[in-house]
Amino acid sequence: MNPADLAFDRGHIWHPYTSMRDPLPCYPVVAAQECRLQLADGRQLVDGMSSWWAAVHGYNHPRLNQALQNQMAQMSHVMFGGITHPSAVALCRRLVAITPAPLECVFLADSGSVAVEVAMKMALQFWQARGEKRQRFLTLRNGYHGDTFAAMSVCDPQNSMHSLYQGYLPEHLFAPTPTCRFDDPWRESDTDALEQLIVTHHRQLSAVILEPIVQGAGGMRFYHPRYLQRVRELCDRYQLLLIADEIATGFGRTGRLFACEHAGIAPDILCVGKALTGGTMTLSAALTTRRVADTISNGAAGCFMHGPTFMANPLACAVAAESLAILEESHWPEQVAAIEAQLRAALMPLKAAAEVADVRVLGAIGVVETRRPVDVAAIQRFFVESGVWIRPFGRLIYLMPPYIISSDELAKLTATVAAAVDNPQLFKMT
Ligand SMILES: *Cc1c(COP(=O)(O)O)cnc(C)c1O
Repeated sequence: MNPADLAFDRGHIWHPYTSMRDPLPCYPVVAAQECRLQLADGRQLVDGMSSWWAAVHGYNHPRLNQALQNQMAQMSHVMFGGITHPSAVALCRRLVAITPAPLECVFLADSGSVAVEVAMKMALQFWQARGEKRQRFLTLRNGYHGDTFAAMSVCDPQNSMHSLYQGYLPEHLFAPTPTCRFDDPWRESDTDALEQLIVTHHRQLSAVILEPIVQGAGGMRFYHPRYLQRVRELCDRYQLLLIADEIATGFGRTGRLFACEHAGIAPDILCVGKALTGGTMTLSAALTTRRVADTISNGAAGCFMHGPTFMANPLACAVAAESLAILEESHWPEQVAAIEAQLRAALMPLKAAAEVADVRVLGAIGVVETRRPVDVAAIQRFFVESGVWIRPFGRLIYLMPPYIISSDELAKLTATVAAAVDNPQLFKMT
């Protein structure tokens, strides 16, 4: 890319969560192959991000490319109203087969945030169909569910700057963030505050919505499976729906195909996205039990009131079905376990570093929480000059590489993180 293109980008194109007036530097990527991103100047970076949880099989996968080409030769898109097509059926068959057993009905949507909107609308329509006015949701602090309005209304109020949108966002209920970590001994008291909120408000509550086990963009925290079991029990006792947002955790990232499996529970509504297409296209889904689907369908509206223009886009469905086939045929449990062991061995010793507050690892996710916020521009430059792509935010430096990463490539990522936390100049003054 020439300097004029980069200047145009700087002057005219928004990037995620950035300023248009004073944008942070952007690095031009012109190709990506397996676990490497290629910059315009020819440099290769080892990818530690999987493009935000998505590219689990690595980049430029020949089978994913072939699936897209095959579908393109038939048709790239056709409306889904009154029409179905083989790729949607193939994908949904696979989704129903691999998700927890009670989930049987699939709504295909365009992005993670929209899947969350769909799940929340389903919960509202479910109670409306039963003649009850239950319009509030209960969720956890430190959660992240997306950037659209309903999704934002159940994100952590501080992280998502609820104060900016006061008056626009419906006010839902927030339980304290779970404190009992994934491998701590379980403490019964961890769900007390959540239980109290349910006891007090259950008649107005339609659903509990949460990220099972791993809270992603809201803090990269891993909580105890018993917590999730208790939430399921409480939802059953007080007749609330449970919405599990597995947009980040789905498809093996935590060492189980779905994070709910750590607790042996099934939600009433499950959201998936991100890795669904192996990181090639945007696609998401909300799956429900037959009971939820039937109740909604028996309501006054007689249908679920949602239908995006590009619903079940055939290209996205074809590549997602192929991605799930690759996953099924791969050795992802062994790959993720090996990544977990290597991340533990390489990152845990960083707990001793002066800049480091905490280190945690689960599945193919490694998190180094620092005492001071990172200087994003400085640390990003440091990583790129060291030949890796890692994108920290706030006090979080984290790795979630493609499952196919080699141990040498992973060692390069962890060594670079170790070098970064040894360099005080990469952190903001406090
Ligand atoms: C990324 C994410 C979303 C939002 O997905 P988008 O595709 O960015 O809209 C929702 N929930 C969780 C848990 C996520 O990680």
